[in-house]
Amino acid sequence: MHDIVILGGGSGGYACALRASQLGLSVVLIEQDKLGGTCLHRGCIPTKALLHAAEVADTARDGEHFGVHSTFNGIDMTKVNSYKDGVIGRLYKGLQGLVKSRDITYVEGTGHLVAPNVIEVNGQRYEGKNIVLATGSYARSLPGLEISGRIMTSDQALTMDYVPQSVIILGGGVIGVEFASVWSSFGVDVTIVEGLPTLVPAEDSAVSKAMERAYRKRGIKFSTGVRFQGAQQDDSGVNVTLESGETLRADLLLVAVGRGARTDGLGFAEQGVAIDRGFVLTNDRLATNVPGIFAVGDIVPGLQLAHRGFQQGIFVAEEIAGLNPLTIDETGIPRVTYSEPEIASIGYTEIQAKELFGEIESYEYNLGGNGKSQILGSTGFIKLVRKKDGPVVGVHMIGSRVGELIGEAQLIYNWEADAQDVARLVHAHPTINEAMGEAHLALAGKPLHAHA
Ligand SMILES: Cc1cc2nc3c(=O)[nH]c(=O)nc-3n(C[C@H](O)[C@H](O)[C@H](O)COP(=O)(O)OP(=O)(O)OC[C@H]3O[C@@H](n4cnc5c(N)ncnc54)[C@H](O)[C@@H]3O)c2cc1C
Repeated sequence: MHDIVILGGGSGGYACALRASQLGLSVVLIEQDKLGGTCLHRGCIPTKALLHAAEVADTARDGEHFGVHSTFNGIDMTKVNSYKDGVIGRLYKGLQGLVKSRDITYVEGTGHLVAPNVIEVNGQRYEGKNIVLATGSYARSLPGLEISGRIMTSDQALTMDYVPQSVIILGGGVIGVEFASVWSSFGVDVTIVEGLPTLVPAEDSAVSKAMERAYRKRGIKFSTGVRFQGAQQDDSGVNVTLESGETLRADLLLVAVGRGARTDGLGFAEQGVAIDRGFVLTNDRLATNVPGIFAVGDIVPGLQLAHRGFQQGIFVAEEIAGLNPLTIDETGIPRVTYSEPEIASIGYTEIQAKELFGEIESYEYNLGGNGKSQILGSTGFIKLVRKKDGPVVGVHMIGSRVGELIGEAQLIYNWEADAQDVARLVHAHPTINEAMGEAHLALAGKPLHAHA
């Protein structure tokens, strides 16, 4: 009998295994594919490598603007892929070493929950005082839309060995706009179709609008508030019809309409675990309704992000070890979209804050007043939302590299800082981070480089 048997070795599962082993618990970690899961092999890391290659392409293309003779002569996908795979390979090796160095029983194979405290893999039973479900997610499609050939999800798009001429992207959320950004920088004609009224609809509306302006300027086309009707592929491309009657045609269709939880056929429901639309329901201590069974990561309703999975994995390990950890505030989890421009946010949007707190104030610091952003030729803003005369409850940013500012933003939100608290901290000049200080200076009533 082990202390913990974990099903799934992605961000949530392996973080739980590492923390539990640190705490002296006996751990079994079961993985059917590659340790590291979606994030490392088909998610965060490969997409960010492509986005970096895209940034290099833009830099080469824009060199003349900075007085540097450079030309963009095209993309060699074989080399881009070997760079991307090299990054993944090094991290994968490191992670395997980390797990090996700990006292973790690593089992390869597909596991099924065959009793509330037993997972079976290849006929072998692993019994645990506690079970942690961490089977992650898969790319969803729409009814009648079969993923094959020219119609693909992020899984196939990440292994492509050529640059298409044109792409239609179904879904203007994080994954959709990141691929749009990469392909546009690679010279592809990109059109996004989003059913909701704006791109990145989960963000503060000021950010969504700014993103649309930035994409329009980049020549990325998009139709919002319009629903997909159907798609048909032939030898040379895909025709996509929209409910508006419009027809679009491109070399490829990327389906980026969200991710479903991978919980079907694994015995969870059969063992009485409460499931809603495929997702495993938990309380705020990540316990399911079945005593001794926990769930972490993308299978738990909420933000599907790797760092949420890490934190939930650590939480469950500590909970099982009896450390009584503090619950995780979902609103305090940073959200970054790594497109160009980048988007980073934490806390509540202005609309959410109004609904929750009634009287609120907001302030937008334009990056036009930020020296480093001028140097980079980047535009955007930092928008702060606070309770009237109270702490900052939302930070929303758009602009090149603003993802790197989320660290301070999350401290501000999670420590319930007032604008005055941040205004007295010194921010280095000239950094983009300085804009965070300037925004708080302004909100505290003493703007420095702020024009409005
Ligand atoms: C294109 C893309 C880009 C992304 N970019 C980011 C990003 O920049 N930042 C970010 O924070 N998040 C990003 N994400 C999301 C992130 O990848 C996920 O939130 C994260 O991987 C979830 O971790 P998890 O452990 O819940 O699931 P997963 O990583 O999916 O891991 C689950 C693991 O369980 C294994 N498994 C499943 N069933 C069984 C079974 N029956 N037996 C044994 N093993 C099993 C699977 O093989 C898998 O390895 C991205 C996702 C995608 C698709």
